Amino acid sequence: MERINILNVKFDNVTMAEAINKCADFLKTDKVNAIVTPNPEIVMQARKDDIYQKILNNSELVIPDGIGVVIGSKMLRTPLKERVAGYDLICNLLEEQSIDNKNIYILGAKPGVAEEAKKNIEIKYNAKVVGLHDGYFKEDDEESIIEDINNSGANIILVGLGMVRQEKFIDKYKKVLNNIRIAIGCGGSIDVLAGVAQRAPKFYVEHNLEWFYRLVKQPTRIGRMMQLPKFLLVVAIKKNNN
Ligand code: UDP
Repeated sequence: MERINILNVKFDNVTMAEAINKCADFLKTDKVNAIVTPNPEIVMQARKDDIYQKILNNSELVIPDGIGVVIGSKMLRTPLKERVAGYDLICNLLEEQSIDNKNIYILGAKPGVAEEAKKNIEIKYNAKVVGLHDGYFKEDDEESIIEDINNSGANIILVGLGMVRQEKFIDKYKKVLNNIRIAIGCGGSIDVLAGVAQRAPKFYVEHNLEWFYRLVKQPTRIGRMMQLPKFLLVVAIKKNNN
């Protein structure tokens, strides 16, 4: 499949429908397929961390989570087809009627949040949450968490530990997650599934202003959000040099 290089992170040029088809194929394999959802902040982080960049690029599916990435791809004249937000991919995968036997493990978010996400998922979707654990654990606990995941019978795991940590966790344990076929680094999606955080209203999403909504809701994100203009600046410089 065609990959589009944006500041050395190589994105799969897929639509949402194609990404869902990929997931269906992943469930038929006999290994863990990692899905990563880089936004401009993650791309900027990967520029400073070679190991992280390699982990992203070695993932089986790399989807453009932020509109900034799509804008960047257009600036570089290698346009990505569309934004494929991680949260939307998870919802569409859970909703997909043609895929049965979706057994989910939720790993991440504050204590109590995964339980709420489980309730909502099981009410709304044709999927079962067969195990969960919060995201505030020590390295010493990891072995027992892996055992719990393997004993749960889950074939899909949502890993929401914040960027870098979640992708490195998946990479570290990919080889020993015996039954998992899809592992998604999903950021704050567990909070949204639980209803403790809200996705931006449709207007903001449709007008590519989701970042603005998040900034107004959580002004403390300003430092992190400054990565977006920095990202666009680096892309503009790269375009000029080409
Ligand atoms: N999180 C966690 N363990 C940690 C740090 C963060 O489980 O040690 C969770 C946090 O509770 C939240 C998610 O990771 O549910 C991602 O948070 P963030 O705001 O960084 O989301 P993103 O911007 O990556 O979507």
